[in-house]
Amino acid sequence: MPIRPICLAASIALAITLLPQARAETTAQAMPEMMDMLRHAIATPTEEGKDKVPELAAYLAGKLESAGFAKSDIEIIPVGHTAALVAHYRGSGKGKPILLSAHMDVVTANPKDWTRDPFTLVEENGYLYGRGSADMKTDAVALVETMMRFKREGFVPGHELILVFSGDEETEMASTAELAKRYHDAEYLLNADAGGGTYDDHLKPVDYEIQAAEKTYADFLLTVTSPGGHSSEPMPDNAIYRLAKALSRVEAYTFAVQYNDITLASFKAVGSHSSGPLAQAMLAFSAHPDDAAAAATIAADPDYAPQLHTTCVATLLDGGHARNALPQRATANVNCRIFPGVHVDAVQAALEKAVADPTVKFTVQMPLPVESPPSPLRADLVAAVTATVHERFPGVEIAPEMSAGASDSLYFRNAGVPSYGVSPMFGKPGDSFAHGLNEKLLASEVPAALDFWHSLLMKIAK
Ligand SMILES: [Zn+2]
Repeated sequence: MPIRPICLAASIALAITLLPQARAETTAQAMPEMMDMLRHAIATPTEEGKDKVPELAAYLAGKLESAGFAKSDIEIIPVGHTAALVAHYRGSGKGKPILLSAHMDVVTANPKDWTRDPFTLVEENGYLYGRGSADMKTDAVALVETMMRFKREGFVPGHELILVFSGDEETEMASTAELAKRYHDAEYLLNADAGGGTYDDHLKPVDYEIQAAEKTYADFLLTVTSPGGHSSEPMPDNAIYRLAKALSRVEAYTFAVQYNDITLASFKAVGSHSSGPLAQAMLAFSAHPDDAAAAATIAADPDYAPQLHTTCVATLLDGGHARNALPQRATANVNCRIFPGVHVDAVQAALEKAVADPTVKFTVQMPLPVESPPSPLRADLVAAVTATVHERFPGVEIAPEMSAGASDSLYFRNAGVPSYGVSPMFGKPGDSFAHGLNEKLLASEVPAALDFWHSLLMKIAK
């Protein structure tokens, strides 16, 4: 029978239009299991000091096994009181593995302060309440559910997919360091704990951000000593005065303006979505990063100044030993958020030069800073994330992002793995209370997360 091109085209079109609907149906089927696992995950209080992470890791490992993962493809790595969970979804051997990162621990929650029990999943007014609902048990469980779904569907990816779940992201990050030490030979890492979408107050999507860089966290202790003595006989040399002078110089010092393609693209996206002098400055700076006037306008805004340069600020102060004695010692902690690509030594040298007093001793505080270079924006990944987000919200702007905080990605970037924060969730700014009281997540984001991972991973791992 001759092939009738029109019918072939029609059937392809039909298959394409059916795809999202078919996915929505299997997502609906996966939801009861997803919610059951989430309920269990939130009821396991994986906060510091309770040693419950290994228990949650074992529970998730059992679920993966029940869906067809070989025992030998799952590993629970004990690290001190916590643990990391690794699960290999074997591929057909194309390229290096793709790592999927999440963390199983949560910030401590005191039930007495909460309106509802933090360790019971409660659905109310379109929200899911519970410690870890937003940060980030829902995302971790959604990744596990997606792996289970792929197994049942018989999906064979080209690239191997490896779940790398840490157990102390909120505190020591020792399990993260261990994972990055073992799994650094990878194509790239996708982190569910960063990036994501923003809704306005009417739940209209505003934009979606891919986190591709983060600043380096570093603390310096400034120490000044002097001989001391009786305070009735003040001496010209006083440790407290000398430290105070040093700190005013730190305050007055501004680090040079810097940029990378992530911050430029981010300024362009934010600038084109807003109006006024700040928005104009962002657009001007993104087009001509040497525009000093534009940089000055951005630098005057406390929300956006950290995107322009390294910042350092005094956070702790200590000095003297008695009311009636000249101080023998004065110290201050200066906390720095360093622009990616700048070494900690260079920041220390700049601060020492600004202080211009060799008797002020600088010491880098523990834990030692972990530097993380920005991850180059891969066109193939950005295109896949864009297409996936647009399946839910057509036309929403996708912008790269550099965050001032820290995530597991920093250890992987430090180990040479390009890492991207691509949380599937959208939320209203300031709505989730992650780390805080009565943490919550919009319930609409759970099936959306399952759709997102299923669709994105099929695109990039095929
Ligand atoms: Zn987190």
